[in-house]
Amino acid sequence: MSELLIRNACVIDPLNGINGEIMDISIRDGRIVEEVSGNAQVIDAAGCLTLPGGVDSHTHVCGTKVNFGRYMSPEDMRAGRTARNGCMHVTSGYSVPTTFGNSYRYSNMGYTTLLEGAMAPLEARHTHEEFTATPHQDMMANTLFDGNWAIMEAVRDKDVRRTAAVVAWYLKAARGFAIKLTNPGGTEAWGWGEDVSGIHDTVPNFEVTPAEIIGTMIRANEVLRLPHSVHLHCNNLGVPGNYQTTLDTIGLVPDLNKTRQSLYLTHVQFHSYGGTTWRDIDSKSEEICKAVNNTPQVTIDMGQIMFGRTTTMTADGPMEFKLYMLHRNKWSNHDVELETGSGIIPVYYFRKSMVNCVMWAIGLELALLTKNPWQCLLSTDNPNGAPFVKYPEIIALLMSKKLRDQECALLEPRTEHHVPLFAIDRELDWNEIAIMTRSAQAKALGIRDIGKGHLAPGAEADVAIYPLKTSEIDPSTQYQQVIAGFSRTKFTIKRGRVVSRNGEVIVDGANSTIWVKPKVPEEYNLSNDPDFVRKFQEYYTVRMSNYPVQDVYLPRGVCIETEADL
Ligand SMILES: [Zn+2]
Repeated sequence: MSELLIRNACVIDPLNGINGEIMDISIRDGRIVEEVSGNAQVIDAAGCLTLPGGVDSHTHVCGTKVNFGRYMSPEDMRAGRTARNGCMHVTSGYSVPTTFGNSYRYSNMGYTTLLEGAMAPLEARHTHEEFTATPHQDMMANTLFDGNWAIMEAVRDKDVRRTAAVVAWYLKAARGFAIKLTNPGGTEAWGWGEDVSGIHDTVPNFEVTPAEIIGTMIRANEVLRLPHSVHLHCNNLGVPGNYQTTLDTIGLVPDLNKTRQSLYLTHVQFHSYGGTTWRDIDSKSEEICKAVNNTPQVTIDMGQIMFGRTTTMTADGPMEFKLYMLHRNKWSNHDVELETGSGIIPVYYFRKSMVNCVMWAIGLELALLTKNPWQCLLSTDNPNGAPFVKYPEIIALLMSKKLRDQECALLEPRTEHHVPLFAIDRELDWNEIAIMTRSAQAKALGIRDIGKGHLAPGAEADVAIYPLKTSEIDPSTQYQQVIAGFSRTKFTIKRGRVVSRNGEVIVDGANSTIWVKPKVPEEYNLSNDPDFVRKFQEYYTVRMSNYPVQDVYLPRGVCIETEADL
């Protein structure tokens, strides 16, 4: 039995309605408990800000495209090198660090749970191998279904049950966590050199539209009773005027779940552009936020960009091609047979570029104009908008109008006429930041019930103690302290063990991988379905029996079983 007592913690735990109470936290064998014995190890939090471990609900840290991002930028790998130190592995890389680099940096910032934003089922083994090498965070995989042939056939037949059966088969085979749609229909069209430009375009060869794919998948998701909702990267990413597609998509969403959203829209900054060209691009964050404010069944994440160097990577192959035509630098393009694709481009976001300045402003505007912080989560779509190590700066920008004004003064001068940011006075408080960085993520992902994102007895003992005294700091003016405080915890506690202290990792972690297995009636088990089996053997280059990920790839797998309503 191991026991830990955290004394004098200034706790903000929004899921339990606790906002800045000084209290003790008792931990036994990795879980929060009511009390511990006198033999417990004691940590003095000294009145510092204490939050549930951070949860990143959309980040790219593991898998084939992340690894290819590493290959593509050897210069990136020279940055951020650290030597082996005690239990710490060597790390390197800035925008796409090694798995250990990702894990340690997240750990130093108090993050203990991550959702990998996109995993192609066919390439799941690689993702799971890298999950096991991300030792300080529990991991989950968004599983790509955007160009899945069996899904599109079921959608074409308007068959929600069969769609659900296909999802169940693939989630189990890939050991995935949730349904991810990236430019639905567009990634398949890209296999033929085409794309879709709106939610009512037809996908070549399948006679379905993105709207039909999204609508059917939302219903299939609820039939399977998955913890998370459909996780959507909308069509038309990064195109001037694309906000209309985003509004059309929000308009589609039925309200089907009482405990969380029915649709999660990711990196919405990239989907909130007005104008018709890069010259007249402007922010449509006000229109988008108005729709979000009026649609409680929708949750979004920001997809903030920050100025500087990074690497973009997405399953949205046609989008990356368009980006390549602008940058004319390195480009990788990849097709995953029968499922999806991907593209990767290293980029630099410039303050001198009005387009980049408008993008920077939109991300912040989304967070400041969404009234309910449970509906807009903090993200950079790491590393697409910026590496996640920029989160503390983003937090400071959201908490300080003064800091925003300073930064706005450095933007390309025309920006002011294209964005509403300059006139927004709202400053977020500590509680809202806690919501946007852990509590709302746990709620949106549906992992509150397995003890994530909160600190009540029974919860997993994932705790972040920051060197910040909220009663003594005015974030509006002392933003430098806010940035420093959120960059390095005093203590990061993962499942009851102190894994990082004062910005230094001190023990090897043992994370787990959370995956979902929907239980379907035997007649919906596609392993026995002649049509599914025949097409699988005919079209895939891999045999059906070799396709599923073996248990050995998940040495510490945590399976959430759901009972499908089929
Ligand atoms: Zn992403």
